[in-house]
Amino acid sequence: MHIALLSRNRNLYSTRRLVEAAEQRGHTARVVDTLRCYMSITSHHPSIHYKGEEIEHFDAVIPRIGASVTFYGCALLRQFEMMGTYVINDNVSITRSRDKLRSLQLLSRKGLGLPITGFAHSPDDIPDLITMVKGAPLVIKLLEGTQGIGVVLAETNQAAESVIQAFMGMKANIMVQEYIKEARGADIRCFVIGDKVVASMKRQAADGEFRSNLHRGGTASVIRITPEERSTAIRAAKAMGLRVAGVDLLRSNHGPVIMEVNSSPGLQGIESATGLDIAGMIIEHIEKNAVPARKAPPKPKG
Ligand code: ADP
Repeated sequence: MHIALLSRNRNLYSTRRLVEAAEQRGHTARVVDTLRCYMSITSHHPSIHYKGEEIEHFDAVIPRIGASVTFYGCALLRQFEMMGTYVINDNVSITRSRDKLRSLQLLSRKGLGLPITGFAHSPDDIPDLITMVKGAPLVIKLLEGTQGIGVVLAETNQAAESVIQAFMGMKANIMVQEYIKEARGADIRCFVIGDKVVASMKRQAADGEFRSNLHRGGTASVIRITPEERSTAIRAAKAMGLRVAGVDLLRSNHGPVIMEVNSSPGLQGIESATGLDIAGMIIEHIEKNAVPARKAPPKPKG
């Protein structure tokens, strides 16, 4: 197979590992810079051009689209989909997963465990919003933050009210969430491929920090997850429509609650914590599921 990796940087660990895994399994892989692709949108011959030439045929596309280029990256991915190319995660699922509120709304429809979460527009509604999520301490989150940036713990109702007012004043979209204190700064990353959790790790926040993101100094270790956590992760990825996903859970007093579902989960932390060849498993999934474009007419999703 000939596989495209949509990535801005060929030196990133995940990008390198996916190329390596594809080549090890006898495929060819090309790293394609998402922002250097451009598209011709026509009914007869929709195409993608890259640095002056029409891009070659790919049997599969692995999108690794950074949060800052979601809009352009998803438009490009959609173009591949319109051309009938197999994509491991499609543009609609990625767009969904990038909006934390939209994701939680979809997950709630499936009855999955979530922290109590509130969303409001008017500053007049802040006091009731705080009561709704059971009062301080509570967590305030920017809807489109990543790597723990834009996630704030407010210890008192007064602090919560001022921070929410400040964010609203800046027209930033935020949600307010019950603080899962009993998780004690730890979360669980479940790596889902297809309908399986292929690896999981616990991330523990650094001392004095409640956010367990590895980018915020968290440390990773292997963990055995419960059957309930496993099925929650699988159902969450499915609800989002993602074939490859990093599902982050917290252990709460009322069972696993989902923090978020990541559509481009990093490979470095999970491969080094578990010693597993996750990149190889992603390529294997593509081998089993990518149907050559010529045999399967495209079913475009808008
Ligand atoms: P990001 O997408 O920026 O990583 P998250 O929503 O995953 O944002 O939050 C970052 C981290 O902060 C989580 O991994 C978790 O450790 C901690 N955290 C977030 N929300 C809560 C919460 N409601 N209760 C307890 N800890 C939380």
